[in-house]
Amino acid sequence: MRKIKEPENIPLPDYRGDLTYSCIGCGQSYPIEEFFYTCPSCGSLLKVVDRAFDTLKKTSGSRWGEIFDLRRLSKAPALSGIFLFHELVLPLVPPGDVIYLGEGQTPMVRANEGLSRWFGSSFYVKNDGQNPSASFKDRGMASAVSYLNHITRKRDLKGVLGICASTGDTSAAAALYLSYLPRDRVRSVVLLPKGKVTPAQLSQPLASGATVIELPGVFDDCMRVVEELAENYDVFLLNSKNPLRINGQKSYSYEVAQQLGWDTSDLAVVLPIGNAGNITAVMEGFLDLVRLGIIEKLPLVVGVQSHHADPVYRWRENGEYRSVPVSPSVAQAAMIGNPVSFPKVRELVREHYEDRFFVIRVTEQEIMEGMLTANRNGHIVCTQGGESIAGARKALGQGILDPSHTIVVDSTSHQLKFSEFQRMYFEGTFPEEYGVTPEKHLVNAPVAMEGGADAVAAFLKLKGREEGRRRKEEEIVGG
Ligand SMILES: *Cc1c(COP(=O)(O)O)cnc(C)c1O
Ligand SMILES: [Zn+2]
Repeated sequence: MRKIKEPENIPLPDYRGDLTYSCIGCGQSYPIEEFFYTCPSCGSLLKVVDRAFDTLKKTSGSRWGEIFDLRRLSKAPALSGIFLFHELVLPLVPPGDVIYLGEGQTPMVRANEGLSRWFGSSFYVKNDGQNPSASFKDRGMASAVSYLNHITRKRDLKGVLGICASTGDTSAAAALYLSYLPRDRVRSVVLLPKGKVTPAQLSQPLASGATVIELPGVFDDCMRVVEELAENYDVFLLNSKNPLRINGQKSYSYEVAQQLGWDTSDLAVVLPIGNAGNITAVMEGFLDLVRLGIIEKLPLVVGVQSHHADPVYRWRENGEYRSVPVSPSVAQAAMIGNPVSFPKVRELVREHYEDRFFVIRVTEQEIMEGMLTANRNGHIVCTQGGESIAGARKALGQGILDPSHTIVVDSTSHQLKFSEFQRMYFEGTFPEEYGVTPEKHLVNAPVAMEGGADAVAAFLKLKGREEGRRRKEEEIVGG
């Protein structure tokens, strides 16, 4: 294959950092080249820390902005997705080992006038459903699987088992990225709660050739099984507990800032909270940008939860964290009663976001209304995106946000993945426990007809064009 010519003067990443796993509980460090997910000594979550980070500060914030802008002109796969921000994602992975399947660089679409009026302000939807497996999870898989590609090659490992529990999208992303690696090096297994993922989400890991195991219960039950496996067997865990994934998901924040021309002074980002990995990554991402002087201050971060799965909301309300039992939610990918990454959220809020972090609770009814209203105005928003929109709208109503903010709402996956909920809404077949009552003005249904243009025209009450009618009459007269 011919080598594609690069434009000149694109600053390539040659920085490799000095990465280590660091325990958020006891502070111990562990070598980055080994597989760790939680601290072997105290059991707390790990984060990836770059001990050489301060050397990046030798380059000014405005120069970093220029570097990242120039890289958008690159034609190299390794700079086309989340690794455009190589130094901040996982610098230890050399560009040659980066797996790029088209993730990242998702569009920010401005809400039209009608939708903005309904919402209470102008705003943007960042469409993370336009990632390759149709959710933001691809960002974290691109970093974790690029790492796995690098390490298995470097250490000559064979037969590594990549494994995850999932509410649907993690397994779709994991299976997709793992299927790109050589079969003798990596196999993939996903654990799903039976009947709790949509048909589209089930089809995805099957298509990628993963071993799909369905277990009774909800996501939290699958997670317990996977955690036990990761503790006792030699497997590579691909849940967001794996801090390598968080590092890739930080790219969301870098992109939002870049898409706003690095001016985030009045920014508010709004996103759903499930396992809390994404909101952790988003907060860490903006922190990186502030530390490097690329942006001046942290944005407001608004998390949204359904009243059917609201542990983080309750913590923020009464200062006490407890896991909660969940009820069925249309925001199924966020239907989690005991978010794995909650301790990281607590730490980030305590240390950096105390006055800039809010959690809004919405009803299932509001989530569906948010999604369907956005869908009717040019957006491919999923139920979790609908949750974000409903939450942001409520935050505007409560005065937490106001129209002077630049509001960016995360639509975390693609509308099509969750079309089952749309169908139940349109057909009026929602099981009672969701508490969703269809509103007529949002319902749509196909109309079946016998056929023929005349019948269709009559149904649509079309008025014929004068000329067309005359010609038709002439034809009749002329026989
Ligand atoms: C995973 C997921 C979420 C929740 O993200 P967390 O990182 O678990 O908080 C929200 N929406 C979609 C579509 C998801 O796949
Ligand atoms: Zn520890």
